[in-house]
Parts: sequence; structure tokens; C-alpha cells
Amino acid sequence: MKAVVFDKHGGPEVLTVRQVPVPSISPNEALLRIRAIGLNYNDVWGRRGLPGMDFHLPHISGTDASGVVEAVGSEVTNVKVGDEVVVNGALSCMACASCIRGEPFVCAQFRIWGFQTGPLDGAQAEYGKVPAAHLVPKPANLSWEEAASMPLVLVTAWRMLVTRARIRPGDFVLVWGGAGGLGTMAVQICKLFGARAIAVVAGEAKAALARELGAEFVIDRKSQRVVREIQKITERRGVDIVFEHVGEATWETSILALKWGGTIVICGATTGFQAGVDLRFLWNKQQNYLGSHFGTTAELVDALAFVRRGLIKPVVMKVLPLEAVTEAHAIMEKDEVIGKLVLTP
Ligand code: NDP
Repeated sequence: MKAVVFDKHGGPEVLTVRQVPVPSISPNEALLRIRAIGLNYNDVWGRRGLPGMDFHLPHISGTDASGVVEAVGSEVTNVKVGDEVVVNGALSCMACASCIRGEPFVCAQFRIWGFQTGPLDGAQAEYGKVPAAHLVPKPANLSWEEAASMPLVLVTAWRMLVTRARIRPGDFVLVWGGAGGLGTMAVQICKLFGARAIAVVAGEAKAALARELGAEFVIDRKSQRVVREIQKITERRGVDIVFEHVGEATWETSILALKWGGTIVICGATTGFQAGVDLRFLWNKQQNYLGSHFGTTAELVDALAFVRRGLIKPVVMKVLPLEAVTEAHAIMEKDEVIGKLVLTP
């Protein structure tokens, strides 16, 4: 089969498109004929390599896919050949006490498909193998490309806001990157819950998208001072929730924008991992700083129910063939993505 493969870490030039064997499946796995692949920033992290993390080489990236079940292992009962599905790429054993308790992130076998799996085990290929318990029916109202663009950012934003930060009607929510992959989902989840999204973006095109998706307020970080605008919008109270994934560049602002007793929920750090905390804020203001990572298959099912009803929509910026993967990485690294990029095999 055709796949995007890298044999060593580096710039986009390490990505090659070449023939590799179709994966073989074990009893609890399904083989997918992949129809579309959503690109995520973890594809960039994987290609670059991360200190202290050993990637399986040669490596196929890709955590989001839509496709058709081509074959199933002998123990699979939840899907059958021909089913149209999407993948929750947060893989775990689904049998240990942590998984049964609904905490797969504590499972000793927790791993992200196409990031921590391998060698040669990810979505950017014509076929992929996935434990069948992590397959969810594809929403019929979405194209293959739309369906592949959503699961990772949708389930992550859902877990951050709904499960971790416990979003409520009327909450002011500062959404960094309101026109990015996570941000477009977060803005729509805020609207769904009757919360008041304040999207921060760079530039008019991204501002227009954030407004269209339901952001009640939009701050252009290139021309406006975020904290000053937040103070105006919230009448100096500060926001109830900050939706963080930018990290080093925004962390200080996030704390300044947060109300007493408010919650920062963070799942990533595109601009760097080092950030300071003035511990007095934490106790005097009784603030909450919460980590959040990916999401469970149950959370994905919950969130997709709203996608099926058209209340959360995909935002696909561009669909490219597998062969254009280096172009896609360049767009992501230049911070030019509006919504999501998708590859087709
Ligand atoms: P995108 O590239 O789609 O969006 C990132 C957004 O960040 C951009 O739209 C940009 O918005 C904003 N941004 C970039 N630099 C800055 C800056 N200096 N100041 C303010 N905003 C900035 O990425 P994703 O939304 O898909 O992912 C974001 C991060 O979250 C990544 O690091 C990713 O790895 C991580 N992540 C973690 C997950 C997990 O489970 N732990 C799951 C998904 C993502 P603008 O320029 O318009 O302001």
C-alpha cells in the first residue's frame, strides 16, 4: 500500500511517500480502507521528534481517519466488513480497571495512534489497523474528508470544556486560536452550551470564521491587547474559562485574563513548554489549572451526536493528496491553517 513514511526525524523533507506492506490484524483489531486522513499538529511533533520520547521508526503518522472496514479479527463484534467509521486515536486496552472506570489515559497500554504506535502504524496510508473498540460510526451527514477532519480536535475540545472545565451557560470562555483545529470546535461547543466565546485570532479571515461559528466576541491579537479587551468585555471580572493550547507565548496572559475562581484548561503548548506560575494567584484567587489530554471513545460518541444534528460543523480548509504531505506540514508550521487540513490516499 501507499503510505507517508519517515525513517528519521527532521524537517518536512524527511517525509517520503512509498509502498509498504498492508498491516496484518490481531483478533481484536479491524483493518480499514482509509478514505481520508485529518492532519494534526502531533504529525509535526512526530516528524520533528520530541526530547525524551522514542518514536517507532520507520514511522507512519496520522491519528484521524475515516474509512470502510475491510476485515475484522476473530474477536471483533462491534463492527463488520463494509461499515463506515471514524477512529478515536486515543488507544487503550479497554479491559483493565482504569479503562473500565473510564480513565483510559491511566491504562498502561495508552498510546496515540500514528504518534506512539509503530513501526509503520498510522493513518497516513491506504490501509490502517485499529483496535475495533476505538471505531465509531461515521456521521452520515459528513463527507469522508469532513469526517476525518473532526475526531481528534472535537473529542479533545469536548473533554477540555465539558468534562474537565464543566462549562456552564453564561460562562465567558477565552478561546485561543479560535479559527484553528481545536479552536473551531471549542467556539461551537461554547455556543452549544450557551456560553459566551471570546475567540482570539490573528487576522480578519480568521476573525470572520470565528464569528460565523458562533463566537460572541473576537479579539485580533495582532492589533488589539488581549487582556485589555477581556477586561472590557467582562467588565473587569475576567473570564470563567481559558481554553489553552498555545503554551509559553500565552500562559501569562491566560492567567491575567482569568477571573477569581476561574479555570484554565490546557492540552498543548505549540509555542513552548516552559511557563511560570505566581503561586499567590493560585491560592488567593482560588484558580484552577487543569490538564486535559485527548478524549475517550464515549466522549467522542457524545460529541458526534451533535455533529449528526448539524449543531457542530466540520471546518475543512483544504483537501490534498498524500503526495502533498510536505505542503501540508509547511502550512501548519507557518500557522496558516484555518480549520483543518485533510489528506486523501
Ligand atoms: P492549529 O495549528 O490548528 O491551531 C493553533 C492555533 O494557535 C492557531 O490557529 C493560532 O491562532 C494559535 N497560535 C499560534 N501561535 C500563537 C501565539 N503565539 N499566540 C496566540 N495564538 C497562537 O492547531 P490545533 O488547534 O490542532 O492544536 C493546537 C495545539 O494543541 C498543538 O500544539 C497540538 O499538538 C495540541 N493538541 C493537543 C491535544 C491533546 O490531546 N493533548 C489534541 C489536539 C491538539 P491565531 O494565529 O489565529 O491566533
